[in-house]
Amino acid sequence: MAAEIREDVQFVFDTNILVDALLARGPFYHYAVDLLEQVRDGHHEGWYAPHSLTTAYYLISKTLATETRNQRQARQITHQLLNKVLAFLKPLPQVGDEIKALPEEDGDDLEDLLIVELARTHLPNPLIVTRDKTFLQRGGIQAAHPKEILERGPAAWGEERQSIPFIDLAAQQRSIRPALDHRIAGVLRHGQYIMGPEVRELEARLADYVGVPHCITASSGTDTLLIAMMALGIGPGDEVITTPFTFIATGEMIALLGATPVFVDIDPHTYNIDPDQIEPAITPNTRAIMPVSLYGQCADFDAINAIAEKHGLPVIEDGAQSFGATYKGRRSCGLSTIGSTSFFPSKPLGGYGDGGALFTHDDHLAKAMREIRVHGQDRRYHHPRIGLNGRMDTLQAAIVLAKLDRFPLEVEARARLGERYNRLFQERLGDRVVVPHIAPHNTSVFAQYTLQVEQRDAVQEALKAQDVPTAVHYPVPLHHQPAFTTGQARCPAQGLPVSERISQRVISLPMHPMLGEGEQMRIVQAVIEAHG
Ligand SMILES: *Cc1c(COP(=O)(O)O)cnc(C)c1O
Repeated sequence: MAAEIREDVQFVFDTNILVDALLARGPFYHYAVDLLEQVRDGHHEGWYAPHSLTTAYYLISKTLATETRNQRQARQITHQLLNKVLAFLKPLPQVGDEIKALPEEDGDDLEDLLIVELARTHLPNPLIVTRDKTFLQRGGIQAAHPKEILERGPAAWGEERQSIPFIDLAAQQRSIRPALDHRIAGVLRHGQYIMGPEVRELEARLADYVGVPHCITASSGTDTLLIAMMALGIGPGDEVITTPFTFIATGEMIALLGATPVFVDIDPHTYNIDPDQIEPAITPNTRAIMPVSLYGQCADFDAINAIAEKHGLPVIEDGAQSFGATYKGRRSCGLSTIGSTSFFPSKPLGGYGDGGALFTHDDHLAKAMREIRVHGQDRRYHHPRIGLNGRMDTLQAAIVLAKLDRFPLEVEARARLGERYNRLFQERLGDRVVVPHIAPHNTSVFAQYTLQVEQRDAVQEALKAQDVPTAVHYPVPLHHQPAFTTGQARCPAQGLPVSERISQRVISLPMHPMLGEGEQMRIVQAVIEAHG
């Protein structure tokens, strides 16, 4: 089983292969075209070395000029041909210090040596596609003729993969590396590290994506919850109704403000707050309702908003796990008074550090949250309210911007992989496991793909033995956390039986947009074997 799983390989196209394919010449050009088409259609990753483009340009335009006897036209056609492949091939970074590390005794030409050094430095599993004999024989890096690659099958070239990552941020990084480098270099160039132009650009793009007028970025998904409640004036003596089946931050920020988290139970199918439990928990001290859109699926906002409206309460969505999800066609974070999300690296839209964002339709709340984010300041050194240092770094905004272009594709991939997991488990294990139930009016971004199983510890052990990592989100509901058992929280006298039961049974499997179908199958097989 394990032997079938291979690392994805990155095809690096040598100049001669690009020239063959674009001119449609040489005895083997159709192999080159075929492989390039597979890359274009998204089946494999393809790269080129920018420094080799001048050679390709020279060779193609020279050939065309000899034939057409028209230099200008030859150059035009060369541009068009190159643009065709550059639209889907990714450039290796420009040559930097690699040039100093070139082996002295190597007799190859500089162009080839640089391709090898760049590919080795920047790609995890490169394969040079070439018909150059010296290249094919030089060693130190995988290289193969396109004919050989196609005959063996392009997917068969990777190294055998030993273990499956829970979330593969490295694969995602490879797919956006040029955009990331470009964005980060832009910040290093202008030097506005605090509240630079990327912060404003990100806020505009996110507001547009969610479909609300205001987005305020912040230092983390925890701080966004804090800022949201501060803007609503929540403090000591107040109560906020929320779910116990969530990450600690949700209840923690309520308590940090001196308010009381009031936990009510969850829906046994979606694991989100059960709207029917909210109204009985409302008291004269209730100041807000804070549903969490858990595992990537929105809570039932129409029902929640109706109760809130009846009692004149604001609703804060903790959408740390659901950015990109939709509820009745509308996007998470735009469904209530305030929406909050996180850019923690493992979240659906994750950065390379901490970050978060707030969303609202309300102009006054937007102004308040902007001020609170910067020490309650409305203009320089003038502070009408108490706030904090809750800004998102410009560098972090630049990184999230680089990821945002690919995000819609990733949201689709997540939905597809989630559905495929569901189908495979239902076909093979029937009701021996409970697969995620996505309400018909929802689309999920599957921040987690979470099953309910009978013998969780045994299943987790069995998967570990097969090198399949798992996690439990969350083993202890918040009303049983020591920090909340000392009095600064409330829950119904009979406890919260659904949350308590579900927290004993859930197990999350590897899930990320680059998860391969082979890998996914291996995970499914391991879960089946764990069930004997
Ligand atoms: C991750 C998470 C948070 C906190 O976000 P950070 O950016 O890590 O501070 C809050 N609520 C939920 C539901 C989360 O999953």
